[in-house]
Order: sequence, then structure tokens, then C-alpha cells
Amino acid sequence: MSNMIRSKILIVEDDSGIRTFLRATLTAEGYDTIVASGGTSALEIVASHCPDCILLDLGLPDMDGNRIISSVRQWSTMPIIVISARSMEPDKVQALDLGADDYITKPFGTNELLARIRTALRHRRTASENGEIALRGSYHVGDMVIDYRKHQVRVAGENIHLTPNEFRIVALLGMHAGQVMTYRSILRELWGPSASTDNKILRVHMASIRRKIEPNPNEPRYIFTEVGVGYRMADGDD
Ligand code: CA
Repeated sequence: MSNMIRSKILIVEDDSGIRTFLRATLTAEGYDTIVASGGTSALEIVASHCPDCILLDLGLPDMDGNRIISSVRQWSTMPIIVISARSMEPDKVQALDLGADDYITKPFGTNELLARIRTALRHRRTASENGEIALRGSYHVGDMVIDYRKHQVRVAGENIHLTPNEFRIVALLGMHAGQVMTYRSILRELWGPSASTDNKILRVHMASIRRKIEPNPNEPRYIFTEVGVGYRMADGDD
């Protein structure tokens, strides 16, 4: 195991006793650890350090942990394991629906925790992640920047006002820049497996997006239509 790159785990927990315990346990197990005691610092660390896995307490002093899940999921598939005292089913469903990979209720056993971490790391989906985004938290192509940390799209330095759904579509295509995404895969990624298969809604969104980001919506430079298939974000030039 010594020749393997050590996985970096971010521990987000405001209780210093639990934080210290988790850090000691994971360090003894050969993991590198980073700690955050609040949501704001956690989000900064996620963007700057790109941990391999996040252990996330939901009850934080400055924000609800669920907000961290939503925010991270806008631009990353890094595994998130919730560790929470909230044991009610709706709490778990909410966290998982927002994109958490797993949920452990306090108090928990060390062996159970380590097993869940190993599983999460094994199932990490990195293949489709855009390396530039993982590194910088943003995607650049031509005059357009998709800023995943600020949830902003800027064209030639100007902030473009997109609706939440429009942003999600642009953000998703940016993550897969250069690749064609089918209508179905976009609908499924954004609205879940039971999403409608009607492409009309996507076309409406796309027409609006193009009016906002493309210098000439009839000759798109940023998002191309693959007729009958889907859309493709232009590949970045740096
Ligand atoms: Ca807490």
C-alpha cells in the first residue's frame, strides 16, 4: 500500500472532540486529512484542495451542511459522506437527493466508517470530470467563463443572468466540454431518472441561454447543437 497515493479526506465538523477523533482515526489508517469547522471554510478548502472524499456534519454553526452538498454538486462528483446526529429518514433522503453518496448516523463505529470511506473512494467517478474545472473551479472557452464556485457565467467579463435551470444546463455541458451530451442524458442528469423524455423543454432553455451568451445565437460559438442527438460545449482553448 505504501506506493499508493494517499487519499485526501476533508473532515467538516464543528465539534472539536469528534473532529480530533476522526482525524486521528483516519491518519492512523494512512489517509491525509484536512479539517474545517464551518461551512464557509469547508467550501474554500473543497475548491482549493480538491479532496478525494468529504466527511460532512450537517449541523454547522454558519450554514446547514445540505447547502455544502448542493454547492459541491454543481461542479464536482467527489464523494460526500454525511455524518450526522439527524437520524430521521427525511433528513437522509434530503441529503442523498442533494447528491450525498452515503449517510452515517452518530454515534457510529470506526470500522463501519472506514468501510464506508473505502466504498466511496472505490466508486469515485472521475472519468467524466473536466480536469480544468477540478483544478480551477471554472471553465474557460473563448470569452466565456463558467465559474462553478460563484455559480456565474461571464462573457467578456460581464456577468450573465441565467435562471437556475439555465445555469445547470450550461454547467453540465461545461463539465463534459468537447463531448456530445444526448438530450436524454442531460434531462436525466439534471432532473433524475424519471425525468420527462420530452426535449421541448431543453430547446426552450437552450434558445434562452443562447440569446444570453452567444454573440450571434444563429451561429453559436459556445454551445453547438448536434441535430437529433443533443448539445456539445465548445472545447476550451487553454
Ligand atoms: Ca455539528
